[in-house]
Order: sequence, then C-alpha cells, then structure tokens
Amino acid sequence: MAAHNAGRGAKYTRGRGPVEPVYRELAADKPAALRRERAIKALSRPQKETLIAAAGETLVLPLPAPVERALALLTAAGFEAWAVGGAVRDCLMGREPGDWDVCTSARPEETEAAFAGERLIETGLKHGTVTVLLDGAPLEITTYRADGAYSDHRHPDAVRFSDTLTEDLARRDLTVNALAYAPGRGVMDPFDGEADIRRGLLRAVGEPERRFEEDALRILRTLRFASQLGFAIESATAAAMETKKSLLRFISAERVREELTKLLCGPAAAPVLRQYRELAAEVLPELRPAFDFEQHNPHHCLDVWEHTLTALAAIPPQPALRWAALLHDLGKPACFFKDEAGVGHFYGHGKASAALAETVLRRLKFSNAERERVVRLVELHDTPIPPERRAVKRRLAKLGEEDFFCLLALHRADVLAQAEINRPRLQTLDAVEALARELLAEDACLSLKDLAVNGNDLKALGLKGPALGRALAALLEAVVDERVENERAALLKLSLEIVHSA
Ligand code: ATP
Ligand code: MG
Repeated sequence: MAAHNAGRGAKYTRGRGPVEPVYRELAADKPAALRRERAIKALSRPQKETLIAAAGETLVLPLPAPVERALALLTAAGFEAWAVGGAVRDCLMGREPGDWDVCTSARPEETEAAFAGERLIETGLKHGTVTVLLDGAPLEITTYRADGAYSDHRHPDAVRFSDTLTEDLARRDLTVNALAYAPGRGVMDPFDGEADIRRGLLRAVGEPERRFEEDALRILRTLRFASQLGFAIESATAAAMETKKSLLRFISAERVREELTKLLCGPAAAPVLRQYRELAAEVLPELRPAFDFEQHNPHHCLDVWEHTLTALAAIPPQPALRWAALLHDLGKPACFFKDEAGVGHFYGHGKASAALAETVLRRLKFSNAERERVVRLVELHDTPIPPERRAVKRRLAKLGEEDFFCLLALHRADVLAQAEINRPRLQTLDAVEALARELLAEDACLSLKDLAVNGNDLKALGLKGPALGRALAALLEAVVDERVENERAALLKLSLEIVHSA
C-alpha cells in the first residue's frame, strides 16, 4: 500500500459487477502500465485472485471521505475500526451503497473521546452506538456486540459488548451482510459472504431457525434483500423462514411497512412474492383470496394473483405506485359473479379493493397522506378516462398533476397485465396523457389557486364559511367544464348568481 500511496505500484479495486477485481497501475511508464492492465484484465478470476495474493496486496474499496476519516481517527486512537454490513456488500457488488456503518473495538465512551470536538448524537448509546456528524452527515459507530438471548422475537434482552470483530459479525443476519472492510486490512469474511455474493445467495449466519426465532424481522429483511439484490434464498434459510413465519406477529407495523415497501420497490419484487406468497400473506392476509383465483373472462389471461404480480412488475418502482399495484384488485374475489354464458365479472371491485387497501394501509400505520393517495389510485384504477379534453381536465383538476400521472401509470400497468386483446387501451392512455400535457402546457385552470377570483372577492359579495367554500368549488367546476371563462368579470357575475340562488 505504501508504494500505491506514493503514486507508484499497483492497486486492486472491485469494479462494477459481481466481485471482479480490477487491476489499476499507477506507474510512471503509462503505456507499459496500460499494456499490463489489459493483460491482467484478460485473466480469469482465479488467476487474478492468485495474483492479488502473490502481490500481498489487499483490496481497496472506495470509502466516502467521512468514513475513511472515522476509521483513521479510531485506528489512531488505538482501536480496531471497520466499515461493516450492507455498504461493504454493496461495494463488492458494484452497487451504490446506501448508508455506511462502522463497528469498532472502542467502547462508546472511548469512541466519544476519539471524536472530541465533533458533533455527537447519543441516542443509540445503550446499544453501543455513537452517531457522529461528519461533514454534516450522520455516521453510526457501534461497539463490537455479541447479542444475548432474545425473548420478544425482535430485540436482544441485553446488549453485551465484545472484543472481537468475528463475534460482532456472527450476530448479523445474512452472510452477505456479515462483511467488514478496513483500508490496508481488506475484507473480513468469516462466514463466506463473498462467495454467497458471487453465487447470488442469501444465507442466514449460523443456524437459520435460531436466527429467525431470535428476531423475526430477519424473515422480512431476507425477502426484501432477495427482491432488491435479485438473490435466491438458500434452501435451509428459506425452510426456516417458513417454519418461523408465525413469529412475524411480534414485529411492529412500522417495521413491516418499511420492509414491505423496500421489497415492493426492488427489481425482483414480483418473483419473490410469487415464490414466497405464503410468507407475504402472513403479514398481508388480504392477499390470500387472490391466489389462484381464475377470472373466467376473455379480457384476462391470468388469475388475480398473477395479474397483480404482472402489473406490479410493470409499474415504476415508487412506493405509492407499487403499493397501489399490489392492492388494486384484491377486492375482485369478493365481487366475482359468473353470467349465464359462464363469463366472470367483478362489478364494483374498484371500491371493494379500495376498502381493503384502506384496512391494510391503516394497519401498517401509513401516514394519512400516503394512505389516501394509494386508496384513491386503487379506487379509480378501473374507471377509464375518456381521451377528451374536458374529461381529462376534470380528472386532472380532481387529482392534481402528480396523482393524475400516477393513475395513468396504474392504468398502463393494469393493461399490460391483461389479455393481448386489451392492448389497444394503451393507445387510448397515450392520447389521454398527450391531452393532459397539452392542458398543463397551456396553464389551464385546474385548481382554486388558478381561478381568476379568490375567497376575498366572494367575501365582498357577502359569502362566508362553508357557503364560500362551496361557491369557490362551483366556480372551479364551471371553469374546468368550460361553461365559463376563467375571467374575473365572468366569474363575479356567476358568483352573484350563486349568491342569489343560495
Ligand atoms: P440497507 O441499508 O441497504 O437497507 P443494510 O444491510 O445496510 O441494508 P441496515 O438495516 O442498514 O441494512 O443494517 C446494517 C447492518 O446491520 C446489516 O447489513 C446487518 O449486518 C446488520 N443488521 C441490521 N438489522 C439486523 C437484524 N435485524 N438482525 C441481524 N443483523 C442486522
Ligand atoms: Mg444500511
């Protein structure tokens, strides 16, 4: 490393993609260095690994400056310090890490002393975590821990500090998350997490049943990582998740919500939910009636659950959209009826699904705004918007721009999950979108704030309270319907009519 730091010598870093070492030479003789780099690039992975071992080099991962500084400060104070967990995993996979975590042999008070002069947040202290604000961003530094017994299937009864990194890694959930890295020391990987990354496999650290029994949240975390990383779940780990799934009742609604949202927004959400639908139904029993529910309708080639998963995969990975896609047809089984010709119908299923969505989202303690948004999308998913200016304007005014486009995305995903014969509906949706963009570009009046009169104007005419609110809404409706121009004089005239008819 010294040679590398002096600007000469070789450096091995992980490139994008699955853990492929990349050789970079920082030599004075550039063309020769480039030739060597190219030659080494052409080697097989085992040949590269041998080369790295022979050179006595360690891997270099790109640490953000505050993390590098934190590790250096702790090391200088005489402690061990490592970047640990998900960020190391992500780096090795060539993914952009989310948050970085550091673990250290320093006890919390020693960590605080090492960062004297920096802003510290002590909220996690009893779990051994000191949060340091470095360059304005919080970094969690946690003392090596070895968790004791767990009696509530979620939290360890007591936190015991440990002196060894291996013990700290042993308490982590999955082998791919039980990795640590320090500059100059390389990657510490006592549970073969790197090999599992290479295989694309999620495996519990230690004995799976015990690990899920200790903390049932790990069941959802594993599903979530399967969706985010596109990894398979190793068979003993998957079997233990199934065996211990009833313990999910001990997990708080907020944690279930967070994990499910991450799962739903992952690239492999649909295949994971398909394979592990019974686990999903453990926290979302409302899904169960949709499983294998045949639709008996020529517009549908998939059962309700398969249709749901296909729509989910077809919608952009934003939380409100993915939740709306998951919930949009759950009311169908309850609304099903077969006509004399044996064709299935689901009248009123938009409302029925919205009611179920409301129940699910309330139980998972979504904020009112998030819940109302998803419920509205679900309720309206089956009400087509005719590709006509006035109809589009009305819907835009009712929903606002953002939700309007969310609804279009849901309509599109829904069509993509229906039978081929429904494909022409996509063109109708394109026409609706084009009209909406046109209306927005011409600054059409779509909300109260765009009206050429305001509350004070109506007050001056003697209106107040709820009557004033109703009058404003009536004016907006008249403008949106193009019954009156959005023009002050015309609107005041109409207001007078409203006052007199009141
Ligand atoms: P991401 O930040 O991308 O959501 P992550 O793997 O970093 O994923 P965090 O929740 O940030 O997950 O946790 C950081 C690390 O702490 C994990 O990588 C894992 O090593 C450990 N960890 C977190 N939660 C648990 C848990 N419930 N049981 C065991 N280890 C856990
Ligand atoms: Mg993390």
